Amino acid sequence: MSDKPVVGFVGIGNMGWPMAANVLKAGFALKVFDTSPEQVGKFVAEHEGAVGAKSMSDIAACELVVTMLPTGQIVREALLEVESSAFISHAKSGTVVIDMSSSEPTGTQELGAELVKKGVTLIDAPVSGGVAKAISGALTIMIGGDDAAAIEKSKAVLATMGERLFETGALGNGHAVKALNNYVAATAFAASSEAILIAKRFGLDPHTLVDIMNVSTGKSFHTEVVLKDHVIDEKYATGFQLGLLAKDVKIAADLGKAVGLDAPVSRLISQRWADALETVGFTADNTEAIKGWDKSL
Ligand code: NAD
Repeated sequence: MSDKPVVGFVGIGNMGWPMAANVLKAGFALKVFDTSPEQVGKFVAEHEGAVGAKSMSDIAACELVVTMLPTGQIVREALLEVESSAFISHAKSGTVVIDMSSSEPTGTQELGAELVKKGVTLIDAPVSGGVAKAISGALTIMIGGDDAAAIEKSKAVLATMGERLFETGALGNGHAVKALNNYVAATAFAASSEAILIAKRFGLDPHTLVDIMNVSTGKSFHTEVVLKDHVIDEKYATGFQLGLLAKDVKIAADLGKAVGLDAPVSRLISQRWADALETVGFTADNTEAIKGWDKSL
C-alpha cells in the first residue's frame, strides 16, 4: 500500500483540472470535487484512477485537501458552511488543507484560526504561471503557514504541481505575495494597453511598438507573452478570467489600506480593473479589459 496521503482536490476549473491531473500522475490517490458534477464526471472519465466525490463530506475523509476555488470567501464557505458544515464536521484531526486559490490574506488568517480549533491546519500556497504552467507542472508556488510539520507534509504534493516552491512565512503571507505580484502585473498590462491604444490613434503599428519594447526598458511578461497574440491579434484566450484578476488587484489595494499605507497607484489600478469588469464582464478573458478602456476623452 502507498504511504502517500489521499489527496482531496476541490475546484477543478481552468487551473485545478491540470493541477489535479499532475497530482494523480505523480502516484497520489486522488478524489476530486467541484460544484459542477459534469466537470467531476468528465475529469474521472479522462483520468484513470481518479475518484469523484459527491460532496464536501466525502472530501473530509482525505488527509490532505487542496482548494483551487475562485475566491477566499468561496473557500471559506466550502470548508465551513456548505451542506450544513459537511467538511468541518467530518474532517479528522490532523487534516491539512492547502488553499492554492488566490484568496484574501486577512480572510485566510481568520479561516486558519477557525479550522485549527477543529484540529485542521490551513496553509496557503497560491500559484503563478497560468494555465500553461499548470499543465506542465511548472508553477511557482508561494507557501505561507504557521505549522512547519503541515508545510513539510504538503511539499511532496506541491512539488507535483510546481517547479519553484517559496516559503514566505506566516499564514496569509503566500496570499499577500500573490496579490502583490498580480497587482504589479495588472499595472503593467493597464499601462501597456494604454500605450497600444495611444500608438494606434497616432498611426503607429502596435506590433512595431511591442517589438521595440521587447528589446527596451518597457519589456514585461505582457510585452513578451501576451500582447501580440491575445490583444493586438485579438485572440483573448489566456485562460484567466477578468473578474479573477480584478479581485487580485483589489486584494492588493485593500492590503495597502489595511497596513495604513497611502498607495494611490494601487487604488487607481484597482479602479481601472473594476471599470473594465463592469464594461466587459467577469468571465471575459482578462486581456479583454482593453476593450473597456478604449474610450475617447
Ligand atoms: P475557474 O473559475 O476556472 O475554476 C474554479 C472552479 O471551482 C470551477 O470549476 C467551479 O465550478 C468550482 N467551484 C466554484 N465554487 C465551488 C465550491 N463551492 N465547491 C467546489 N467547487 C467550486 O477558476 P481558475 O482560473 O481555475 O482559478 C482558480 C483560482 O486560481 C482563483 O483564485 C484564481 O484567481 C487563481 N489563479 C488563476 C490563474 C489562471 O491563469 N486562471 C492563475 C493563477 C491563479
